[in-house]
Amino acid sequence: MANRNTRVFPLIDERTVGFPIRPAPPPALSPSHMLQDALGRPLRDLRISVTDRCNFRCSYCMPKEVFDKDYRYLHHSALLSFEEITTLAREFVALGVQKIRLTGGEPLLRKNIETLIGQLAELRTPDGQALDITLTTNGALLAKKAASLRDAGLQRVTVSLDALDDTVFKAMNDVDFPVREVLKGIEAAQTAGLGPLKVNMVVKRGTNDQEILPMVRHFKGSGVALRFIEYMDVGATNGWRMNDVLPSHEVLELIRQQMPLVPLPSRQTGETAQRWGFAKANGSHDAAAGEVGFISSVTRAFCGDCNRARLSTEGQLYMCLFAGKGHDLRTLLRAGASPTELRQAIAGIWGDRNDRYSALRGLAPADASAPVRRVEMSYIGG
Ligand code: SAM
Ligand code: SF4
Ligand code: SF4
Repeated sequence: MANRNTRVFPLIDERTVGFPIRPAPPPALSPSHMLQDALGRPLRDLRISVTDRCNFRCSYCMPKEVFDKDYRYLHHSALLSFEEITTLAREFVALGVQKIRLTGGEPLLRKNIETLIGQLAELRTPDGQALDITLTTNGALLAKKAASLRDAGLQRVTVSLDALDDTVFKAMNDVDFPVREVLKGIEAAQTAGLGPLKVNMVVKRGTNDQEILPMVRHFKGSGVALRFIEYMDVGATNGWRMNDVLPSHEVLELIRQQMPLVPLPSRQTGETAQRWGFAKANGSHDAAAGEVGFISSVTRAFCGDCNRARLSTEGQLYMCLFAGKGHDLRTLLRAGASPTELRQAIAGIWGDRNDRYSALRGLAPADASAPVRRVEMSYIGG
């Protein structure tokens, strides 16, 4: 194994160097007045990063060697306030967003996050519907916060958990955090009614692949949908190599050797996971046993119907998880832009969007010596 103290990460700080926002062209509207990007994709899902800080140091996301005591996190004044986030979210909703996911960093570290959830829960879509509001968390603070999150208006949570074995999990979170505390958080979220719950497991070949079957057995029949995420080449600090990716089809085969699964239809356009249900003896889906999901960002790109925009902690709007630059909404907002101006700016940016990184990945040979110009997952949110 490489000595972790000697690993060198080509890191360019891509924060706060977003595109300035120019006067917007008229938004591209379909005959049904739906905003679409340059590839015909609607805007439906907004992911908002509320902090760039985290209490874990997952090696695939915030490796300790980079995110150490000298790392420069964003200053508090750089962060969007809850009022600023809500002001922007209102315009996104007017343009078609129906679902908001709070993320980070670790979103439960943001002080009074319940206040923001309460503000977002009051927004309504143009046809008067409440939003689907959810949050992705590492679960460390969930046992303490589940009830207050639910009271504030949060509907669901997704919890990240990469192993059931403490040694494996601690090696991955790199802060010695025990599995049992995350399981307590999952239980508290279920009790509070923050379901149906999803658990995300990032699979790294040779690191936690032995945990796949124990995780499946543990969550089968529990009401939790376990989802396997292919380890992604996001950011520029995790030393990603294709050899470390365990493709979803291999995970699926591994599970199917032990228990029968049946494919389930996707529930909505833009769904990131391919769903498989546990099967009864007659081959039909056993709904009580539940399902597993596969998010195959590396081996099976789902850019074709990607309807997600991402707002960074400091108000940079990213059109793709792998984008090198965002669009500087904070400057526009703090310069006093009116709601109409904000809406036009967002519509213009979405109308120009043609990102499809995963679909293009692998088509062009990568230059391994070139520094990677991509923002970190902990900054932009997952
Ligand atoms: N801290 C929270 C958490 O871990 O759930 C929210 C932020 S985290 C960046 C969001 C999701 O991204 C998590 O499920 C995490 O496992 C996933 N993630 C982070 N780095 C990843 C990578 N390199 N490949 C695949 N998934 C990754
Ligand atoms: Fe923190 Fe989540 Fe990244 Fe892990 S994946 S380091 S918990 S932000
Ligand atoms: Fe969407 Fe970019 Fe991911 Fe493709 S690579 S699915 S465009 S975020």
